Amino acid sequence: MNKKKVAVVGAGLSGLMAAKELSKNAFDITVYEKEVKPGGRMRTDTVHGWELDRGFQVLLTGYPYLKKHLEDLSIDLVQLDAGATVFHENKRSNIGDPGRDISLLIPTLFSPVGTLKDKWLIFKLQRMLKKKSIAAIFNTENSTTAAWLKQYGFSNQIIKRFFQPFYGGIFLEDRLETSCRMFLFVFKMFAEGEAVIPIGGIGKFSEEIAALLDGEGVKFYYDTPVQTVGKGKLTTEKRGSEHYDVIINTASKLNNNYQITWKGTYVFYFQHPGEPVIKTPRIGLVADESKVINNVFYATATQSKTREGRQLLSVTVVNDDDYSLVELQRKVRQEVTQMVNQKIDYVHHEVIDYALPDIASPVDEQKLSITDQVVHIGDYQLNGSQNAACKIGEAAAKLLNEQHA
Ligand SMILES: Cc1cc2nc3c(=O)[nH]c(=O)nc-3n(C[C@H](O)[C@H](O)[C@H](O)COP(=O)(O)OP(=O)(O)OC[C@H]3O[C@@H](n4cnc5c(N)ncnc54)[C@H](O)[C@@H]3O)c2cc1C
Repeated sequence: MNKKKVAVVGAGLSGLMAAKELSKNAFDITVYEKEVKPGGRMRTDTVHGWELDRGFQVLLTGYPYLKKHLEDLSIDLVQLDAGATVFHENKRSNIGDPGRDISLLIPTLFSPVGTLKDKWLIFKLQRMLKKKSIAAIFNTENSTTAAWLKQYGFSNQIIKRFFQPFYGGIFLEDRLETSCRMFLFVFKMFAEGEAVIPIGGIGKFSEEIAALLDGEGVKFYYDTPVQTVGKGKLTTEKRGSEHYDVIINTASKLNNNYQITWKGTYVFYFQHPGEPVIKTPRIGLVADESKVINNVFYATATQSKTREGRQLLSVTVVNDDDYSLVELQRKVRQEVTQMVNQKIDYVHHEVIDYALPDIASPVDEQKLSITDQVVHIGDYQLNGSQNAACKIGEAAAKLLNEQHA
């Protein structure tokens, strides 16, 4: 029997997951990727010998659609602390989830980040969300995260000193205008799993999946941007027109049915000698409105090769306050120097314009259909998360399995 020919446009998470599911059945699969390696928005580049993620990003082991794939791979993971170091007005304090790390109980209770009532509300919210399904969370009446937090009773103090920097870094906007559905979903995921980063960087995850698929006969064409898709035909400059029974397209620009607004971010990398300011793999949040840095993380912890006596700091900026890149770089350097209190060396930076889709009403389900032999997928159709990318990739594969098996 002739195998059905399927093309996947994009070797990001959703495309890889679709290919992975399809590879279990009799499909002839070819993946086209415009970049020279897989990963899409979850990529790691090697620069001056350091493994640098294109934007600080963690894998949440609580994500149901990611979890099972993590279990299939044998990658080493660094587990981040269940808490954060908060930098506020030149002082540092630690806050975290004592349920997961008891040593955080005392610092959390006495941290000036929020009131005692705030800490009780966090505990209450965790309990409430443990019982709530993800489907129910995405049916919650929509409002902004900022409005939801206020209505739940959190003080302005904890909103400014913890929620804004922490969730601002996740939503890539620090006014917390993102839907409360995303807040509740991500809060639940943090409560139910760990935040981890592969040794070798976030891109290791996609690279390992692509290697697995390669070994199973899936063809990959890298550095091959697709120009058009439609009616089972796919065109590229390198290879001309090629015909497929079905094309799974994850390139949002090739989907004319969606107008997406994107949220961007900046990542800067610096190295310095000596000891790190934060000794364990934990995120540092900057809770001063006058500062441009949102968060820092010592990426030394995720390098596959250690550099004797050198520390690598990843610095995320979410809101550029309309500074030019040169001014921003100068301000970031100043703030990092003050934070680490020693000479730092610039390593690299990335301006990431297309980081997260800005979705007013995120959802967790979407009915997919194949039109003109093309099915369009991507996190932008559900919600901006790795879970959504994995889920929709799997859903596309399921659709093809049902229609073409
Ligand atoms: C800085 C940053 C931080 C993030 N942090 C988190 C986090 O902590 N937790 C979380 O859950 N999510 C996070 N995300 C979001 C997460 O990375 C995405 O949800 C996920 O990677 C999206 O996968 P995707 O396959 O839908 O899209 P993409 O990764 O964008 O995949 C699309 C692929 O198509 C390729 N492509 C595009 N056009 C063409 C073309 N014409 N021809 C061929 N190929 C093409 C692209 O190169 C890409 O590989 C973050 C994203 C960024 C950028």
